[in-house]
Order: sequence, then C-alpha cells, then structure tokens
Amino acid sequence: MFLTTPITAAQLLGTTEQHIRLIDERVAIHQDMHSAFTSLQKAALADDIKIDIASGFRSFERQKMIWNNKFSGRSPVKNEVGKSVNLSSLSDIDKANAILLFSALPGASRHHWGCDIDIYSQKLLPEQQTLQLEPWEYESTGPFAPLTAWLKEHARAFDFYFPYDKYRGGIAAEPWHLSFAPLSHAYEQAFQLDILIDCINHSNIEGGQMIINNLDFIVKTYISNVNEGEFTCL
Ligand SMILES: [Zn+2]
Repeated sequence: MFLTTPITAAQLLGTTEQHIRLIDERVAIHQDMHSAFTSLQKAALADDIKIDIASGFRSFERQKMIWNNKFSGRSPVKNEVGKSVNLSSLSDIDKANAILLFSALPGASRHHWGCDIDIYSQKLLPEQQTLQLEPWEYESTGPFAPLTAWLKEHARAFDFYFPYDKYRGGIAAEPWHLSFAPLSHAYEQAFQLDILIDCINHSNIEGGQMIINNLDFIVKTYISNVNEGEFTCL
C-alpha cells in the first residue's frame, strides 16, 4: 500500500510520532490506517456495534516505563490466570518471561507502529463495570461477545486481523488486539535485530544486558511468534 511516510527505525522503535495522528484527546493511530479504521467502524455501527479504542500508538518511553515498573516490582505482574507473580525470587530471564506474557519489550511493541490497537465497546460494558482488557470480557459469555463475533466475521474484509488470536507459547491470547495487515506486515518485514540491539544498548531498560544476551530467544518466542492473519498475498 502507499505510505505517506516511509518506514523508519524510529517508527519501528516508537521513538517518533511522525507517522501517527490523534483521533481523540488520548488516542493516536497510524495516519495511513485512518480511513480503513473509519470504514471498519462505520460498517460495525450499521450492525449496531460501536468499536472504541482503548489503546493505539504507544511510545518507546511509555513502554519502557511499563517494563521498568514491572521488572523492578513497582507494578504487579500477572500470570495467565490473573494472579500476581512474585518476581523477587526469579532470575532476570524468568522475570522477563513473566512480564513478556502480557507486556512487550520496549522497542518491539506492535503499538509503536500505530497500526495495532486494543479495542472494546463502551456501550456493551454494563454500568459500573470498568474495562479490564481480560479474555473473559471478549468470550461468548462476556460483555464484548457481540463485538468479537462481528469482528470474526467482518474484520478481514477491511484488512484487520488478530495477531494474538491464541496462546502460541509466548504472548497470551489477546482478543482485544487488532492489527491492520497492509501496514503491520510492512513493519514486520522492516524489523531488524541490530536496530533493536542498538536501541536497548542506548536506553536504561531494566535487565538490558540480560535482554541482549537472550534476544534471539525473546524475538523467536515473543516477537515473531504471531498469527499472520492468512494475508499470504501481501
Ligand atoms: Zn495491544
């Protein structure tokens, strides 16, 4: 597809905002995804499903803050059943494994690209219930079941898909994380290990040396280990 700004290392790493545009006071998405997402939203609305974005573009600095808070024990780290993990007794690589189940490595989050978003539907949330971004909310008995069902049927026609459709041995299933294939596949192809290594080496990420030492494993398990959405023609 035509890109208004060519993909750069800074876009891959989340250290620039040149490729994104604000769509409300707190959410920004890739400027070249705007019309596709608007079309998706309109089609859903015609079927009485309102799609809201909980999280769009996220910067490297923001992701680093999330990572460092978890790695140092300032923020809780949850396991696959929602229980807090006690990180203090774990080795650095096991701390990383625990965090990476739900949180991306800074510099390698798909949210840096702006073409990956976490979606929900405010209208479907019962009153006094706040969004948790947990799988049960999106399952057949959860409040967002109609949203999940609609997207399963229609997202592909608008070139959207779920990269974390199921647990693949790395990142947990994330039924809220939607990706715009024409852009995200271009970012996946532009990924270069040496750019990520250089970024980690020059930022104060907790566990930085451990990350470098285990980067091949981390990439294989948590970064490239995703559903491609059967867009094989791209
Ligand atoms: Zn996400």
